[in-house]
Amino acid sequence: MAIAIIGSGISGLAVAIRLSRAGKRVFVYESGATYGGKMGVFEKDGYRFDMGPSLFTLPDQLSDLLDDDLKIETIRLKTLNRNFFSDGKVFDAPADSVAFAEEASKAFAIDKRILRDYLKEAKALWELTAPVFIYRSLHRLKDLIKWSNYHYLYRWTQLKPFTSLHRYNQRRFGNSGLVMLFDRYATYNGSNPYLTPATLRVISHLENNLGAYLPVRGMRSIVDALYQQAIRLGVEVIFNARVSNIVRVGERWELTVNDSIQGYEKVINTIDVRTFYREIFKNKSLLLKESKKELSTSALIFYWGIDRRIEKLDVHNVFYSSNYHEEFKELKRGTKLFDDPTVYVYNSSVVIKEDAPENCSNLFIMINAPTDRGPDWVSWVNQIRPIILRKLEKALGDELEKWIVLEKVLTPRMIETGTGSFGGALYGSASNRIDSAFKRHPNFLKGYPGLYFAGGSVHPGGGVPLCLASAKIVEMLINEDEKNNG
Ligand SMILES: Cc1cc2nc3c(=O)[nH]c(=O)nc-3n(C[C@H](O)[C@H](O)[C@H](O)COP(=O)(O)OP(=O)(O)OC[C@H]3O[C@@H](n4cnc5c(N)ncnc54)[C@H](O)[C@@H]3O)c2cc1C
Repeated sequence: MAIAIIGSGISGLAVAIRLSRAGKRVFVYESGATYGGKMGVFEKDGYRFDMGPSLFTLPDQLSDLLDDDLKIETIRLKTLNRNFFSDGKVFDAPADSVAFAEEASKAFAIDKRILRDYLKEAKALWELTAPVFIYRSLHRLKDLIKWSNYHYLYRWTQLKPFTSLHRYNQRRFGNSGLVMLFDRYATYNGSNPYLTPATLRVISHLENNLGAYLPVRGMRSIVDALYQQAIRLGVEVIFNARVSNIVRVGERWELTVNDSIQGYEKVINTIDVRTFYREIFKNKSLLLKESKKELSTSALIFYWGIDRRIEKLDVHNVFYSSNYHEEFKELKRGTKLFDDPTVYVYNSSVVIKEDAPENCSNLFIMINAPTDRGPDWVSWVNQIRPIILRKLEKALGDELEKWIVLEKVLTPRMIETGTGSFGGALYGSASNRIDSAFKRHPNFLKGYPGLYFAGGSVHPGGGVPLCLASAKIVEMLINEDEKNNG
């Protein structure tokens, strides 16, 4: 019997490739008209925008998925990001860790040894945690009680789980802008630096030590290549095919796709688990269990086609709030958009010239936003748009509004409608608690053989690298289960 995968985002495509290579017959059901989910693309009038992810780390995770002729060419960026602080300071973060320590020590008047030690520690933390927390299922007891994991008991304190990321950074860097620069890594999985444990400083290792990459044809080309690979392997990807029900009948799973019922030996869900329990599995107690977990943040994005080059922008740019702490308090309250938000600007046309007409720019302007709790997004967007524009114009010392020739907006509600992501959360549940990693939904469901989970809302977490890791974990679990069942 065959395997069905629900959803053709990066996780669904990656699992499909892995299982198809292992000799399985794989069907992917996608409710939308195209693949890629959150990794969408918008193209118009000579402008091209990656609609979702823009930061790409750990590109090697794609290497065993793609045939040589489909492999993606990437550029390793020389500057991680250009940081604009509210006091007018501008800091270009070099991608090379030695240069970073050198430059940051000058810019923020801090001993470079502190920076070097911080980054070395982040590397050690990654090497300590990734094999168990990222590349294994974590929720299978036998994985956890292996002898090789006992060193965690005595190295537990190195993780600093009882200190918040912000407090830890403040202790290391004093009151400089560096605290915000390193606090911001919490947002890479939709968490809050004032709550998330300092263990999350491990994320800085991925960018600061291992590097930030950009595919030469943009982020969308990652899912383009995965889709082509899946098709080449014989995977059937069926579009406009909404899965609306799943039941266990004897030894198989029956899926309702549009109005027809299909039987499968195994099913891999890659859509948001809350949406899965609410709309497909229809299990109130599992939905309630998931709903108790705090959601990661969402985002509000403007895609602006600009009729000129903006010399002061690099590929990744961050315009910090003058009150970062208050911004996160407001995000948690979720009753309005903060009126001095940190603004992230992705301008791929700096290196991908084809992404905008000659001497023009394709700006992706993003602020953190609360998950959708039913506000009037039209009025929220209208209120925040001029605030963002004035903030950017002030920092860049340049007019922006009059050069906008193309505009598209993406709200948390649109993210939910377009991808099934509960509340438009970008990364499933947040990692704001010490036990978040353990509480994250496992890659399987106890008591339901043949049902597996991959994707941004389950273990090990959201974001491109972790979604790819979840696909690999599902493959490992299926292999183990098949071995155990003879
Ligand atoms: C604006 C934005 C910026 C981001 N920035 C970054 C970044 O810089 N770096 C990074 O690493 N990550 C980033 N992320 C997160 C990253 O995009 C996600 O973690 C990842 O793409 C999730 O992939 P997925 O396969 O788990 O799910 P999705 O991409 O959500 O795919 C799920 C798919 O399932 C389909 N589907 C839903 N319901 C059904 C149904 N009932 N039946 C059939 N199909 C269904 C959907 O249409 C969708 O195609 C960002 C996300 C967004 C939205």
